[in-house]
Amino acid sequence: MKVQNLKTFFLNVSCGKLISDSARVLDSIQLIIVKIETDEGVNGIGYTYTLRGGEGVKAIIDKELSKIVEGKNPLEIEDLWNKMCMSTDARTHGGTATNAIAAVDIALWDIMGKVERKPLYKLLNGKRNKVPIYDTDSGWLHYTPQELAENAVNLLEKGFKGFKIKVGKRTLEEDIERIKAVRDAIGDSLTLMVDANQAFGVNEAIRRGRAYERYDIRWFEEPTLDGDINDYVEIASALDIPVATGEWIYHRDIFQKLIQKKAADIIQPDVCRVKGITEWIKIAKYAEEHETPVAPHFNMELHTHLVCAFSNAITVEHMPWLASLFKNPLKIKEGYAFAPEGEGHGIEFKDELIGIL
Ligand SMILES: [Mg+2]
Repeated sequence: MKVQNLKTFFLNVSCGKLISDSARVLDSIQLIIVKIETDEGVNGIGYTYTLRGGEGVKAIIDKELSKIVEGKNPLEIEDLWNKMCMSTDARTHGGTATNAIAAVDIALWDIMGKVERKPLYKLLNGKRNKVPIYDTDSGWLHYTPQELAENAVNLLEKGFKGFKIKVGKRTLEEDIERIKAVRDAIGDSLTLMVDANQAFGVNEAIRRGRAYERYDIRWFEEPTLDGDINDYVEIASALDIPVATGEWIYHRDIFQKLIQKKAADIIQPDVCRVKGITEWIKIAKYAEEHETPVAPHFNMELHTHLVCAFSNAITVEHMPWLASLFKNPLKIKEGYAFAPEGEGHGIEFKDELIGIL
């Protein structure tokens, strides 16, 4: 089998609402879709996303990565992935090129699944087809405590069992007011997480973390900038509350260091940022060997497959920004996300989007 050609498509995607955390406010993201066609009629679909700068991601795929995979056997994923990494090595330290490689890598795994006639999670030896899903999309920073409490009640009615709310308000008291409003509304019937999106310095992260702990918080996400592992070591050792990070980390070696140094209790790799499924699997395997839970960031459709495949992967994140683009939105029922059962990743873009490719 050979890759005949690779096509890309760029799309601005509305989030459907205003999104806010301690770091940014936005109402849309950018999606770059890849379609790989083979000479045997099996096609693979991949995609990646960025908040901004997606045109650069598309250009790397069009001008560089397409030339690496065209004419090659798409089932030799590791070899193609290594060649893509080597070709872009000066730019894979974070961002544009890692996103670009991810889209192509995901399309190659889609082809592999179709050739093997298995859904992705089974291709990866996953023994379960459903995983717990928690909601983030009702917990944005601009929501008032009252709105958060109402959203928590709505989530319970929809069957969700976990809810993550943004923290990082100007004062600790404002953060606590938000957490308390939710706990008062739903008791202990939802697992609660908090996410600071890197808002604090080390001392303030420890001070706030100690206050959050009183509300039985499952994890404290991105308390400080993710660039300094020693800061995370200090925070994680000072707090009883588990510390989670990784959504802006692009490389396996950094995840390995986080785990080795006990800088994070839970890691959160994002398949579109870490160069795709090939690298995500290596990160999850390393975490599995070191008994570290994995709770991936965003991308619930693809991550459901990946979480199904690893015993140490604990949950996926409900942020349904891409859901309206798919023919078959992710099935969510009673707090669980179900992996698509089609061959490959089984995620199909609507014809009006993919038809032009
Ligand atoms: Mg986060």
